[in-house]
Parts: sequence; structure tokens; C-alpha cells
Amino acid sequence: MNYVSTRGGGQPLGFTDILLEGLAPDGGLYVPQSYPSVDAATLQAMRCMSYAELAATVLGYFIHDIPSADLRTLVERTYTKVVFRSDDITPLHALEKDFYLLRLSNGPTLAFKDVAMQFLGHIFEYTLAKRGAQLNILGATSGDTGSAAEYAMRGKRGVRVFMLSPHQRMSAFQTAQMFSLQDANIFNLAVRGVFDDCQDMVKAVSADASFKAQQHIGTVNSINWARVAAQVVYYFKGYFAATQSNDQYVSFAVPSGNFGNIYAGHIARQLGLPIRKLVLATNENNVLDEFFRTGIYRPRRSQEVHATSSPSMDISKASNFERYVYDLVDRDPQRLAALWRTLETTGHFDLSSAAYRDKMAASGFVSGCSTHAQRLQTIREVYARYQTVIDPHTADGYKVALEQREPGIPMLCLETALPAKFSETIREALGRDADRPSGYENIEALAQRFEVMDADVAAIKTYIAAHTSD
Ligand SMILES: *Cc1c(COP(=O)(O)O)cnc(C)c1O
Repeated sequence: MNYVSTRGGGQPLGFTDILLEGLAPDGGLYVPQSYPSVDAATLQAMRCMSYAELAATVLGYFIHDIPSADLRTLVERTYTKVVFRSDDITPLHALEKDFYLLRLSNGPTLAFKDVAMQFLGHIFEYTLAKRGAQLNILGATSGDTGSAAEYAMRGKRGVRVFMLSPHQRMSAFQTAQMFSLQDANIFNLAVRGVFDDCQDMVKAVSADASFKAQQHIGTVNSINWARVAAQVVYYFKGYFAATQSNDQYVSFAVPSGNFGNIYAGHIARQLGLPIRKLVLATNENNVLDEFFRTGIYRPRRSQEVHATSSPSMDISKASNFERYVYDLVDRDPQRLAALWRTLETTGHFDLSSAAYRDKMAASGFVSGCSTHAQRLQTIREVYARYQTVIDPHTADGYKVALEQREPGIPMLCLETALPAKFSETIREALGRDADRPSGYENIEALAQRFEVMDADVAAIKTYIAAHTSD
């Protein structure tokens, strides 16, 4: 299995060659050269596998340059009851007949990003050790991704994390989650400024190619193929938990931002998993919903992105979307590159012709969106009906799932975070706080380890250089 750029540049590369890379040098994203397919006998055998066995099998289709015994060890270390608080790792919770929550948020930071990021921590450590290499991850976060990355990389040999966050602008819970980490390889840098200042600093440091190479600077963003591949696993897990035999179909509803989670569902479907619909849900930032309804893709400028009560979906340009469009243009890099040139010059591209609309429909994608008022209403409704509290992102998915549900087809709503992370919105909806899982009750009282700094690119470079030499 080799990987190529969606824009057609460069030579095909193996999995471990793209593992530590971001974008391809031509600005495209790495995708598998072709999609493997799971045969009927294997699909049958997968039905009774543990999560770790399933992960080894699914990831084995995408990773051919790591011995299978080693891959097996890596997933067994990753997917444990201690880390994910259940043997199922991603347990399926029935709300009623044929209507489910697929719980993806029982990892250390209480959001689905842990499922893939925890694997990334183990496979980075493994690969760096094999190569005798080091990686210094530099990132900017307003909450979710940064904490998932830190909890995945803490204590891992060969890896350090330098995470910039806007000083005193994250929630008390998120701040406590990140800043209470005492691991020597985790550096929390609270920047006097807003999130955009943090992101600009990361971009400025990464733009200095010689500093970047000298200091082994890397990232862990959602375009990393290993993250996508690790997310494919729970689509299989959810499918087997909701069905009795492999001739049944199910649908998944996915609250979407960077298009990483639902794109993993698309890959699961390409592998042959019987998925009927992939229900994409957005909040007020509805660029992707608009695309699936009209065929026109028109990302907003960053000033036009609304700050909503499902903040992890407040995104203008969904970074993984290019991978899906690559399939829509029959994996033709010339056509894909032409679309992105059109996007750059005109601000949009148009795939509204009947032929493209047919392909989009054939890929199973449907969509819808949700507003703040609808989010609150959904949280109330789910609580009244099932005595279950869901978080605002999951609520966006649930709302669109209801619109797209079909009789006799199980609908699985992906739970992307626990409500405890978003207590302000839960209080607004239900008039009370969400319960916290055990171990998180007093997290704000833990000792915090962080440094405050100005939004100064030279200062962050000096800091990194001083903390990477040992
Ligand atoms: C990241 C995130 C999303 C969006 O997932 P994508 O893979 O970016 O589409 C949705 N909900 C929560 C809670 C998240 O953290």
C-alpha cells in the first residue's frame, strides 16, 4: 500500500514515510493509491473481534511497512480499558430500537479525537525509535485538539509537544486538563493574545524552513493519514454492535468540522462496510452542508466564521475535504488541482452537474445543519426522552440524524464529546451542570504547569531551541 498526493506530485511513498509529514510537497494531501477491499470471510471474522484485534485488522490494510506483530503490539497498548474506561473502547448505547449513540468520547480528554490521537502517540514513539529520530510537535489550540495531542504524547520517548494557547481564554476545565500535565516532554505556552495570534506564531515558525529542519518541528493536525485510518476502526465496531449479520445496512450521523471523522466513514464504506448513509451535520458554519445540498463549495473567509456553542465545528475550510473531492473526480489529480486553482481565484468551485450529483448520492452522503436554538432544543429533547445528556456537537448530529432516519435501518449517532466539557451550554439547555466522569471532579484544583509569553515569534523560537537540546 503506497500513498500519493491528491495533486499528483512526487513519487508514491510508504505509510511510515508519510506518517510524520503534513501536506505533500505539492500542497496536496496523501491518499492511498487504491482502496483495499475487505472480503466476505474477513468481514465475518471481524464480527467477533475485540477492539484491538479489529484495529490491527483494519490498520493492516493501510500499513504494510510495519511488521504485523509490531502493529498488533501498538494497538494492544493503545486500546485498553484503563485508557478508554470500557472493554468495548467505543461502546454502542441504544436510545431506542434502531437508534443509537456510538460513544467515542471516553478517552482521557473526553472527546473522540483521543481514539486516533492515542494511537498516534504510540506509533510516533515506535517509528522515531526505529529511525533514531526526534520530533518536536508545535501546535496552537483553543482547546480540544491540543489537549488530545498532549495526552497522547505525554511521556513518549523522542517526542516533545510545544502547545500555544490563548492566555486566560480557554474554559477552566480545558485549561486544567492541559496545564495539569506534569510530564517533562509537554510544554504549555500561554500566549498573551487570542487563538489567531497563536496560530500565526505556529505558521511563522513553520515558514522558517531551516529552523524547522534543525529543530525537527512537526504537527499533529487532522490531515494525518494515521488519524484517519485509526478512525475507520470504530465504524466497523459500531456496525457489528448494531447488526446481527453482514447483509444488513446501517447509517452514521457525524457532527463535522474538518471532515476527518466522516471521511473515515467514507473510507470504511470504500473498504466494503455496508453503510447506507453518511449523514453530515454542521452548525451555523454550514459550508459543507451547502456543498452536499447544492454541489457548490464556497468556504468562508475566517472573519465570516461564527463562534458557536459547538466550537469544535467552527471551521471555514475543512482540511480533509480535498480527499473526498479527489474520489468525486475519479481520482484524477489534474482535475483536482484545477478545481483548487479555481477555488483560489474565484473563491468557489461548482460540482452541481447531474453527473457529480449522482456520484455524491452514490457515495451515501446527505447533510443538514443546526442552529444554537435547535442545539439547545435537541439537548432538552434527548434528556426528556432518554434521560441521557448529550454534548452540543453530538446534538448537531442527532438533529440531522432524525431528519435522515429510515425505517428498518439502524442509525448510529457519533458522540464526539462528553457534555461535561461544555457545561455552559448544558446549563443553558437543562438548567444544571452535566455530570463529570469519575476522576475529573476536582481537575481545576490540580497544580498547573505552564509559561506565559508574548505573541513574539523570536521568543518562541528561542524557547523551543532552549528546550530541545539535551
Ligand atoms: C474535532 C471535533 C469535531 C469535528 O470533527 P472533524 O473530524 O473535524 O470533522 C466534532 N466534535 C468534536 C467534539 C470535536 O472535537
